[in-house]
Amino acid sequence: MKEFVQNYFSYTGAEIRQEGDVWIVDLDEELEKVFSQKQLRLVFDPQAVTEDTELVTHGSFVLNAMYAYMQSRGNKAVSRLKEKHKPNREDIAEAVRIENGLCSDIKIKKIHTADVLFNFKISFLSDEKTEEMYHLGIDRQGVVFDAQSYYTDAVMGQDLEPLTQLGGTDLTRKDIEIYFRECLKAASAKAQNHAKSLQNDILKRLHRNITRIKGYYTAQIEELHRNQLTYEEKRLAFEREYTHKLQEEIHKHQLKIVIKLINFHVIERSDYEVTVTLVNKQTREEQEIKMIYDPFTCHLDPGLCPSCQALMETIVVTTDNAIACKRCSYHCVRCRKRFGDLPHAYTCSVCGDYLCPDCVTICSGCRKPVCEKHSDLCDVGNEMNCTECLKVCTVCGKRLCQDHTFYCTATRQPICYEHRIICRHCRRIYSTAFVENIEKNGLICPNCNHSIK
Ligand SMILES: [Zn+2]
Ligand SMILES: [Zn+2]
Ligand SMILES: [Zn+2]
Ligand SMILES: [Zn+2]
Ligand SMILES: [Zn+2]
Ligand SMILES: [Zn+2]
Ligand SMILES: [Zn+2]
Repeated sequence: MKEFVQNYFSYTGAEIRQEGDVWIVDLDEELEKVFSQKQLRLVFDPQAVTEDTELVTHGSFVLNAMYAYMQSRGNKAVSRLKEKHKPNREDIAEAVRIENGLCSDIKIKKIHTADVLFNFKISFLSDEKTEEMYHLGIDRQGVVFDAQSYYTDAVMGQDLEPLTQLGGTDLTRKDIEIYFRECLKAASAKAQNHAKSLQNDILKRLHRNITRIKGYYTAQIEELHRNQLTYEEKRLAFEREYTHKLQEEIHKHQLKIVIKLINFHVIERSDYEVTVTLVNKQTREEQEIKMIYDPFTCHLDPGLCPSCQALMETIVVTTDNAIACKRCSYHCVRCRKRFGDLPHAYTCSVCGDYLCPDCVTICSGCRKPVCEKHSDLCDVGNEMNCTECLKVCTVCGKRLCQDHTFYCTATRQPICYEHRIICRHCRRIYSTAFVENIEKNGLICPNCNHSIK
């Protein structure tokens, strides 16, 4: 709340001094009318209250006057954010993180833009009432951000110059309305989340109250004398009252969220549009990429990766001269080309290496993608197979695909077409090696007990 009060007075341009626990605010003419005094002496700690100080709590006069005043004005503040740094080519060339290319040219263009900050008061109403302030900002790209993480109290206090009206930005009323709706959406999502965390406690309190009410009416009904003539009538009256009280209790514990716009603040600022020309080290082809330089924080924002739409960290130029980021690009293990669409890459089912669509082999047995190292042809029918699916004849060593592999009934060993023997009687398959082994015992088929040949 201290923060809010401080922000509020700095928006309105009032001077704040601090003397121990007391904040002294010198008001200008306009604010003097609102508070009916020239100077406010505020304390936030109930123990520090003296005769001439005003305690700021939720619902206190000062806070209510502030809210009322801002709403009546539809309070809009306009400021300009100071520029702290100027971009130069050397620094930018150093800040661009590119894995496989060079910066050959950097163009820098100043752009006038604005951020709009919205301060919302959120009330959570049920059997208890709590309030929160949400400070949300939105930039000209429509990205909503936590206003206080960028426009900290220090920035609001020192780095903003108040303006009397919009200056160097083409922000229209319509833009502000759209931004307001976006921020309101974000505020309401945040409030819904917070409501979920309150809900549990509310339900606990509701449950406690219901138990108490139920206990009370059960006792009342039990105390009635059953043999009295009016028994049934009295019992029904209690039951009606009980149902009514329950409904009342449930109604009281329903959580309502009220969101109010307290004020908004348009902050004009400059950004620099930086156009970097990248040269692909392999192909020598050039590519342009646009980034934003923030002259306040001197941060260079490379924007979103055109391939995966995530925040670009390290830039990669692909072999076909597209731009991607390190996370979504891959090297094909066979042709060594760089590609920028990792989600469409094939991975070898044996070793996990990445393969491009031109270099991938699909195993004719399991239909999985496989690399060159982990695939081979069947020696019988020339089908391409992964090393997991290929079997080797235990007699002659030929590589075999699923279709050309037979298994010895007795030993379960894989064998080729040429090295199998079929029992004349039961049609079971045996390997020639097994049959040679049992020859001295009279070639009896272990399955049908007849002679195999
Ligand atoms: Zn990417
Ligand atoms: Zn390839
Ligand atoms: Zn592999
Ligand atoms: Zn396979
Ligand atoms: Zn085969
Ligand atoms: Zn064989
Ligand atoms: Zn047999």
